[in-house]
Amino acid sequence: MAFPVTRLRRLRRTEALRDLVRETRLTPDSFVYPMFVCPGEGVRKEVRSMPGVFNLSVDEALKEARDAFSLGVRSVILFGVPDKKDEVATGAWEDDGIVQRATRALKRELPKLIVMGDVCLCEYMSHGHCGVVKAGPQSLGAAARDAMNAVRVVAVRNSKEKAKAIEAAAAPLVTHASRIEFEILNDPTLELLAKTSVSLTRAGIDIIAPSDMMDGRVAAIRRALDDAGYINTPILSYAAKFASGFYGPFREAADSAPQFGDRRSYQMDGANLREAMREIEADIEEGADMIMVKPAMPYLDVIAAARERFDVPLAAYQVSGEYAMIEAAARNNWIERDRVMMESLLSIRRAGASIILTYYAKNAARLLA
Ligand SMILES: [Zn+2]
Repeated sequence: MAFPVTRLRRLRRTEALRDLVRETRLTPDSFVYPMFVCPGEGVRKEVRSMPGVFNLSVDEALKEARDAFSLGVRSVILFGVPDKKDEVATGAWEDDGIVQRATRALKRELPKLIVMGDVCLCEYMSHGHCGVVKAGPQSLGAAARDAMNAVRVVAVRNSKEKAKAIEAAAAPLVTHASRIEFEILNDPTLELLAKTSVSLTRAGIDIIAPSDMMDGRVAAIRRALDDAGYINTPILSYAAKFASGFYGPFREAADSAPQFGDRRSYQMDGANLREAMREIEADIEEGADMIMVKPAMPYLDVIAAARERFDVPLAAYQVSGEYAMIEAAARNNWIERDRVMMESLLSIRRAGASIILTYYAKNAARLLA
């Protein structure tokens, strides 16, 4: 039936009609609110590149979670910002680690709140990588960088042009050295991830969410949880996590930027949709109860393809850079924050994610109330 019989505008005439025929709806109980917990008391430190997002001490995290819960947001995911880091990520798996402490406090005060634990090592490693690194910090790349910095200081005293020339000459060396200097070891990392997962579950974490992108981590974590008697703790795996420039602000929030190299040897290449399906399939086979695609907005096609192909609950992470872009534009009055926020969340939902991790959880829930 074509025009003039069919008139699609008929169902758009009034707000009630539009509400009636709406295909996709957002609800606060599908939001997961990410929180960064740090040591101390009364700490509420705003992340420079994520206005409205804070590093929170346990007491402040409690207030924030209570606030979210009262708005209908019933899940949070915790990231730790520890005061010390080392080469074996002790802060991730020790029983009085910052996330473990925050979890005990949250579960005591808000037993019905779902507390998810992000499982990764980068926040707790002195080098900022998600796994165990082969090669010391004084490797070739670091040495080359030190040398270049020294040269730069000397050169700046002479002339700016000279400094530029020297930098340009040294840059390829640093790039090259950074590429060959280290390796992120897969299998030794699994042991630490498993240990972290058990420790977090012991502290009261309800859902374990590994985000490291090592091969075989889901199986290793499932085995360790089962061996420790935690057969009912679900795993939400960051199954398709892409190496993305959109993580920039998060690295400031979690103080987890790699000190050398990048994460492209373990996080996925943004060009690969079929490989994303293989990653997801592998995680489900290893025992993942739920899967996640991250980031969300630049990978909506991956979310849609995953929804089409797999029947497990599907989550998507609206990451720091997505949030920061909307905030920056809104703060300049270039866009309407609320409208763009809701439209971005709706697009993720429409693509097929039923669970959305978002820094806007509270703001969006407030609008939906
Ligand atoms: Zn990591």
